[in-house]
Amino acid sequence: MIGGSCLCGAVRFAAERGSGIVVCHCSMCRKAAGGAFGAFFVALRDEVTWEGAEHLSVYRSSPGLERAFCKHCGTAMTGANLTEPDETIILAASALDNDGSLRVIAVEHAAAKATWSEGSEEVPHFDGPYPGWEKLRP
Ligand SMILES: [Zn+2]
Ligand SMILES: [Zn+2]
Repeated sequence: MIGGSCLCGAVRFAAERGSGIVVCHCSMCRKAAGGAFGAFFVALRDEVTWEGAEHLSVYRSSPGLERAFCKHCGTAMTGANLTEPDETIILAASALDNDGSLRVIAVEHAAAKATWSEGSEEVPHFDGPYPGWEKLRP
């Protein structure tokens, strides 16, 4: 079982199976997911159970497409799904608690990559918090 939840815990999903994960660098996915990229996978609607779905809010990000997020904490819970849904649903990999065997299979809109995240693999990495927070100034 693949499980996801929002930051505050009000909304949870569980999916029996999931596709590979697609990472999207477009500005809409970056903003919706609150990160350097969005990451999504596909599940079958009738294999997904929701807890606290009444806490979801929906934003129509493009004509015919809507994204669902927790209205209390803002966590993206889905990708851009058809407002007239088919048998599939796009779920947000960023909400996963146990990611099981799901792995990234493709990166899309790579040309729209946020310039601020360029080179982030080369800077110092810390297993705990960044020790420089208190002295960090512009
Ligand atoms: Zn929440
Ligand atoms: Zn996107």
